[in-house]
Amino acid sequence: MPTDIITFLGTSDAVPSWERSHASLVAHMAGQTILLDCGEPCAKNLAFECVNFGGIDAILLSHLHPDHVAGLPQVIIGMWLEAKRTRDIPVFMPAEGIETFRKLILTTYLFPELIKFNVDFRPLSDGRTFAVGLVQVTPHRTTHLDSIRRIAGDKHGIACEPFLYELAANGKRIAYSGDLGEAGDLLSVLDRPLDLLVTECAHFSPQSLFETLRDKPVTRVALTHLHRQLWAKKEDLPAMAKDYGLADKLVIARDGMKVEF
Ligand SMILES: [Zn+2]
Repeated sequence: MPTDIITFLGTSDAVPSWERSHASLVAHMAGQTILLDCGEPCAKNLAFECVNFGGIDAILLSHLHPDHVAGLPQVIIGMWLEAKRTRDIPVFMPAEGIETFRKLILTTYLFPELIKFNVDFRPLSDGRTFAVGLVQVTPHRTTHLDSIRRIAGDKHGIACEPFLYELAANGKRIAYSGDLGEAGDLLSVLDRPLDLLVTECAHFSPQSLFETLRDKPVTRVALTHLHRQLWAKKEDLPAMAKDYGLADKLVIARDGMKVEF
């Protein structure tokens, strides 16, 4: 069976950083190339990793915070000018953003008549599985935006619906958290064995994450999106994880890191 692998393009939190790019990773799984989130400078990092812009089969956006989506138009430029792509690109995302993003692509002059392919935005539905080639993708809603929906989202008519993603193919199963409200949001994908869990660690303590993962059927855990203060103390995390039986499973993601599964 060919090797499946993810490459971290950006592992930063939302604060601009000189040493880390914003949230984005590319998964090569079951012959598909899937881009998960497009924090900038996503296109530059795809070029650096020699990922063929024409070979990307789908883009999955977890939610619409700019540190997860701001690089999207430049990725479309890469598909046009670098790859001379003619195949439509599906972009799965929370339904609340689709009209705005469709307009963004048009008002940045990326007309389908010009670039020769369609940017095909498709809405997510909690728990509803869809296929990208042989990869079965299931989005699960998280609580990441619940508090800001109560503060202002309802007033502005924005649903504030974030998702984590589960990807399964050829008997392998991985998950990407996007952003969470609490570590317990991960329970939606921890009921069955996971070969790899990529999870953020910016919105809760590492201890609460490790407690959630204790005794769960996860082979490897890659931490990304560490908030700035935690990033400065990342060397302490493996020892901390040991208390929860996770020391041998833990990977601290850095930009450019590759993890096979
Ligand atoms: Zn977020």
